[in-house]
Amino acid sequence: MPLMTAKEYIESLRRLKTRVYMFGEKIDNWVDHPIIRPSINCVAMTYALVQDPRYEDLMTATSSLTGRKVNRFTHLHQSADDLVKKVKMQRLLGQKTASCFQRCVGMDAFNAVYSTTFEIDEKHGTHYHENFKKFLIYVQDHDLTVDGAMTDPKGDRSKAPHQQTDPDLFVHVVERRPDGIVVCGAKAHQTGSINSHWHIFMPTIAMGEADRDWAVSFACPTDADGLYMIYGRQSCDTRKLETGGCIDQGNAKFGGQEALVVLDHVFIPNEYIFLNGEYEFAGMMVERFAGYHRQSYGGCKVGVGDVVIGAAALASEYNGVEKASHIRDKLIEMTHLNETLYSCGIACSCEGCPTKAGNYQIDLLLANVCKQNITRFPYEIVRLAEDIAGGLMVTMPSEQDFTSETVVGRNGETIGDICNKFFAGREGVSTQDRQKIMRFLENICLGAAAVGYRTESLHGAGSPQAQRIMIARQGNIQGKKELAKLIAGITRDSE
Ligand code: SF4
Ligand code: FE
Repeated sequence: MPLMTAKEYIESLRRLKTRVYMFGEKIDNWVDHPIIRPSINCVAMTYALVQDPRYEDLMTATSSLTGRKVNRFTHLHQSADDLVKKVKMQRLLGQKTASCFQRCVGMDAFNAVYSTTFEIDEKHGTHYHENFKKFLIYVQDHDLTVDGAMTDPKGDRSKAPHQQTDPDLFVHVVERRPDGIVVCGAKAHQTGSINSHWHIFMPTIAMGEADRDWAVSFACPTDADGLYMIYGRQSCDTRKLETGGCIDQGNAKFGGQEALVVLDHVFIPNEYIFLNGEYEFAGMMVERFAGYHRQSYGGCKVGVGDVVIGAAALASEYNGVEKASHIRDKLIEMTHLNETLYSCGIACSCEGCPTKAGNYQIDLLLANVCKQNITRFPYEIVRLAEDIAGGLMVTMPSEQDFTSETVVGRNGETIGDICNKFFAGREGVSTQDRQKIMRFLENICLGAAAVGYRTESLHGAGSPQAQRIMIARQGNIQGKKELAKLIAGITRDSE
């Protein structure tokens, strides 16, 4: 089956009976909804670039399961080179969309679940790995988008899943039948969930024996009976509902998407179950998924960073200050920060190694260092972009003002004339282009796209403390102490 085109992907979404709610109402035609559509365009780009021969090497791979050509977003990484190509592909997509293109969560789930199910079967004699392989072949052959759903709402963070007053605060099994299980619960802030054909659910934390019913992983169609989604708001999202132009949206074509995904007694047949009570493997699945997704940020956020740096450079030109040494230095600093992030993404990929199942895993320490830097550097990049752009990016009148023909001046000047007169920058630059770049920066620094570039950089793939725990675990301080002792001539063991 040939790989889907962007158009075919969008049409395939129309055939699903996905249940979506927003602003307290059911949205029937969510595919064409102005708030949702930019996020669909973003995922569509993961299909569109496959068709471009320039990107074939990055965007496609040969399936290790079938030998057929697949979209890299459905691929099991077979080498460190595959891991590097993944990061490069994500940077490319960040450059093309300046947004979160969502499809990576599925790719990261595939690779984490593939290796973890192998090890569960090895210990317990279960058949999860075979289940998963069959599912993934179906996904690869149909070129599907799959949401990797991990983050439970978690309720009282001091309590384990089984201790919560409401058991639904973590996804759990409520009934076991001969032919499958029934699950309840929810996953919060799910990237790209509505735009996915299927979901893979995974636990969100390591679990103990008492959490057995919460230690569950499975695949489920997005339009399964009992599954629905409540759309997450983004800053300035209702600008997408305004008529009369789209400059004020900043990035009218692309955007990210998060939603609350609710499972209300959803039946999962046995063939789609990948973990069911083997609680000691919950932590492994979480760690591996998080590791891959922390690597991912060393690609996608860097691509978006490239666009932010470009926009800041353009803003400086339009303001006539591009030759000022401090502007040049700020662009250098932004580039330095951005390339440092990329270096981390590439490094943890190059240091990748095979899992027992055969697919490749990133170096966990370096992936966590990568994501820890991502929790900081985009904020500094955005601060510098705002510094270069100037206050106009948040004080400029609306697009309608720039085109208004309402007369306000003594000599018949319109509101549009006045705006264009006073917001002109360097000679030869159209005021509208200046308007566009200011609104674009506003969008990415503190508008709808700031979800993807700022807050997601902080909390997506795990909040900063989650990486610090992993860095502490992987950092081998003991080994480093031995190095120091050897050179310093200390032979005694520490107390
Ligand atoms: Fe992909 Fe980045 Fe979005 Fe995660 S945050 S889904 S890695 S684009
Ligand atoms: Fe993310």
